[in-house]
Amino acid sequence: MTLEIIRLTLGPLPNNVYLLGDPDTGDAVVIDPSYEAQAVLDRAEEKGWTLRGVWLTHGHFDHLAGAGVIANAFTPPLAVGLHPADLAWYENDGGAAKFGMAIPALPEIDLYFEDGMQLCLQEGQAPVAEVRHAPGHSAGHVMFYIESLGALVCGDVIFRQGIGRTDLEDGDLLTLLESIRTQVLTLPDETRLLPGHGPGSTVGYERVNNPFL
Ligand SMILES: [Zn+2]
Ligand SMILES: [Zn+2]
Repeated sequence: MTLEIIRLTLGPLPNNVYLLGDPDTGDAVVIDPSYEAQAVLDRAEEKGWTLRGVWLTHGHFDHLAGAGVIANAFTPPLAVGLHPADLAWYENDGGAAKFGMAIPALPEIDLYFEDGMQLCLQEGQAPVAEVRHAPGHSAGHVMFYIESLGALVCGDVIFRQGIGRTDLEDGDLLTLLESIRTQVLTLPDETRLLPGHGPGSTVGYERVNNPFL
């Protein structure tokens, strides 16, 4: 099994949306579907992939604006996963109103992430990703480590030469730096970082060049 991960950059902020799929079985999940959800459905179809779930790194609106449209494009609706510490964000439409935005109705969360949890693309299959809890940008922020690809989908924890903002209500700078130290910098230097915004990077590059670390 060789997984493939595809990045789409969508929405007004703009957000990196990731499709993680197994070309052999056609099973796939979407990570952080933002606005322009139809583009995600179209790309999955082009690839011949069937979406099996929606994984959210955290509860901010720009990372989940498309969750309802995508989950409800399937019967039964796709399972949506989130860390319980970000439920307050989720239940408040990801804070969209605060930014003068609106999002389509969100489905119920059916999968609660916790640190160290192993995730599969489809129930009963071998796991493909490990959940890494990394609070600081939000209390329930998680990252997805896909060891077979040497890749970490890191949401708004760390960016190329940047880190996530910590001025929102449950943000905390020291907590974020500790998360980066224990959950990002402990990975091999060659690990690719696939952030929620902007270009990708590697653990080794950020270890040396990130001015916040
Ligand atoms: Zn965020
Ligand atoms: Zn964001």
